[in-house]
Amino acid sequence: MTVQAQYADPAQALQDLKAAGSKNRRDGLSAEELMDSITQGGLTYNDFLILPGYIGFQAHAVQLESRITKRITLKTPFLSSPMDTVTETDMAIAMALLGGLGIIHHNCTPEQQADMVRKVKMFENGFITDPVCLAESHTVADVLAIKDRFGFCGIPITENGKLGSKLVGIVTARDIQFVSDHSTPLKACMTTDLVIAHEGVTLEEANRILCESKKGKLPVVNNNGELCSLLARSDLLKNQNYPLASKAPKSKQLLCGAAIGTRPDDRDRLGLLVAAGLDVVVLDSSQGNSSFQIEMVKWIKDTYPDIDVIAGNVVVWEQAARLIAAGADGLRVGMGSGSICITQEVMACGRPQGTAVFKVAQFAAKYGVPIIADGGIGNIGHITKALALGASGVMMGGLLAGTTESPGEYFYLDGQRLKKYRGMGSLDAMEMAGDSGNGSTKRYYSESDSVKVAQGVSGSVVDKGSIKKFVPYLYTGLQHSLQDIGIDSIDALKEGMREGTVRFERRTAAAQAEGGVHSLHSYTKRLFS
Ligand code: GDP
Ligand code: GDP
Ligand code: 5GP
Repeated sequence: MTVQAQYADPAQALQDLKAAGSKNRRDGLSAEELMDSITQGGLTYNDFLILPGYIGFQAHAVQLESRITKRITLKTPFLSSPMDTVTETDMAIAMALLGGLGIIHHNCTPEQQADMVRKVKMFENGFITDPVCLAESHTVADVLAIKDRFGFCGIPITENGKLGSKLVGIVTARDIQFVSDHSTPLKACMTTDLVIAHEGVTLEEANRILCESKKGKLPVVNNNGELCSLLARSDLLKNQNYPLASKAPKSKQLLCGAAIGTRPDDRDRLGLLVAAGLDVVVLDSSQGNSSFQIEMVKWIKDTYPDIDVIAGNVVVWEQAARLIAAGADGLRVGMGSGSICITQEVMACGRPQGTAVFKVAQFAAKYGVPIIADGGIGNIGHITKALALGASGVMMGGLLAGTTESPGEYFYLDGQRLKKYRGMGSLDAMEMAGDSGNGSTKRYYSESDSVKVAQGVSGSVVDKGSIKKFVPYLYTGLQHSLQDIGIDSIDALKEGMREGTVRFERRTAAAQAEGGVHSLHSYTKRLFS
C-alpha cells in the first residue's frame, strides 16, 4: 500500500523562516514585549532567557568592543566597581591591561586616591614625558629609594638632575646590582656610552631603535643633547602581552577611572585626580537624580572638558533625563541589585535590574549616552543579558572580589580560602574611614545623621585566583554566548534587540530550576581551565 505524502517539502522550511521575518510571527518575544512593565512587572536577569540564533561564524570572531562613555570605547565591556574591597591600583592596572576599566574607590583620602591613579597611569607608557632623573652627584641609595617608591630604577642622569638638562649618562639595575656601598656617587657607576634618539622621532621609529639596540631604555634628546623623554623596553613587552589593553591613543598610558561624591570638597579631590592623569570620573551616588549631582556634572564639564563623567545611579528614565541634560557622558544603572546590598529591603526603593537596564538604556540611546549595568552580575549569562537589554558595559563588584588583584588579605574559614567583600553602605565600610575624607559615608548618609542606617552588608567571597585568568574566562565565555544567539558583536546584539530580531522568553520558577544543575546527588562546579 502506498502511503500518501502528508508532509511539506523540507525546502519549504526556509520559506517559513523567510516569512517569519516580520516580528509578530517570530518565536519568543521582543525585549520590549518581555519588559512590558504593565503585564510583566519588573524582571531581572534570571527571569528570562535569550533564544538561540544561527551560527555562521566562529566564537573567537565575536567582537566585544563597546563604547562605555560618549568618548571612551573599550575592547572588553568590563568595569570594576569603586569599592574598597574591589578596586585599588592592582585591580585598575589589571582591568585596563585586559581591555576593561577599573574605577578606584574613594573610601580614602584624596591624596591616597590620587596616588593610586598616578600609579595606574605610570604603569605603561609610549614616550615617558616626565621621567624621574638624577644628577651624577646623587648616590646608589637615591636610585634604590626611587625603586622603592615607584618600582623602576632605569634613571637618566642629567647635568642638573632634571628633565630638560644635558644628558650625561644612565643608571639601570645592572649598573648598581653589585655596588655594596650605597653612598657611591652615580658618576662612578653610570653608563655613558648611550644609544639615543632625537626629538621628533615617531613612536614607531623610537621603538625600532630600542629593539635594535637591545637596551632597556632609550633616552630622547634635542639638538643640544638635553633630555626630552625616555622609552622603556618593558613597555613594548606589555604592549605585546596585552593586545586588548585600554590605553590613551597618544600617551599609551592605561586608562583609569575613579569615583567621587558630590560635596564641595569633592571638587578639590577631583583636582588631585585630574593632576594624577584621570581619564573618567564616576559620580558615586545610590540615587543620582539630585540637584547636587546635576550641579556637579555641569561643573565638571565646564572645568575639565577632557574628563568623561559617568553619572548615576539611576533606574528609571526620568532620573536619567536630568543627568543627560546636564551633560553626563555615561550613566550607571542599578539600585539595590548588588550582591552586598540591602537598599531595596531597608529603603523600599530600587528596581529589578533587568527592567532598570532596559528602560534607562532605551531612553539614553536616543541621546547617544551609553549605560553601564551596575550590580547583580553573578555569571557570564548575566553579562550577556545586561548587554542584550541595552547596556554598553557591566560593572562588577562581587564577581571580581576575592581575586589576587582585589585589596585585602586572604584568610581561611571552614577550610575555604576567602577575602573580605563588603558593601560601601555597610556599617563596616562607613565606620572604617572615620573622618579621613572618606566618600562611603557620604554616598549613603549625611555626616549630620546621628544614626547610620546600613544599606549594605559585610561578608566574604571565595578565592578566585588572578583576574588575569578570570577576565579572559569572562571574555571567552561571552564570545560563546553571543555566538549561540547568532550575533557577532555587542553593537549587533543591541541593534538586534532594538529591531526585535534578538528574541527573549520568560522563565517560570520551574524553568529556572530546570536551567540549573539538578537531580544530582552531588557535584563539583569548575568554571574554567
Ligand atoms: P597596537 O595595536 O598595540 O599596535 O597599538 P597602536 O596601533 O596604538 O600602536 C602604535 C605604535 O605604538 C606601535 O608601534 C606600537 O608598538 C606602539 N605602542 C603601543 N603601545 C605602546 C607602549 O605602551 N609603549 C611603547 N613604547 N610603544 C607602544
Ligand atoms: P626599570 O628597568 O627598573 O627602570 O623598570 P622597567 O623598565 O622594567 O619598567 C619601568 C616601567 O615604569 C615602564 O613601564 C615605564 O613606562 C614606567 N615608568 C613610568 N614612569 C617612569 C620613569 O620616570 N622612569 C622609568 N624608568 N620608568 C617609568
Ligand atoms: P555586585 O557586583 O557585588 O552585585 O554589586 C556591586 C555594586 O553594588 C556596586 O557597583 C555598587 O553600585 C553597589 N553597592 C556597593 N556597595 C553597596 C551598598 O553597601 N549598598 C548598596 N545598596 N549598593 C552597594
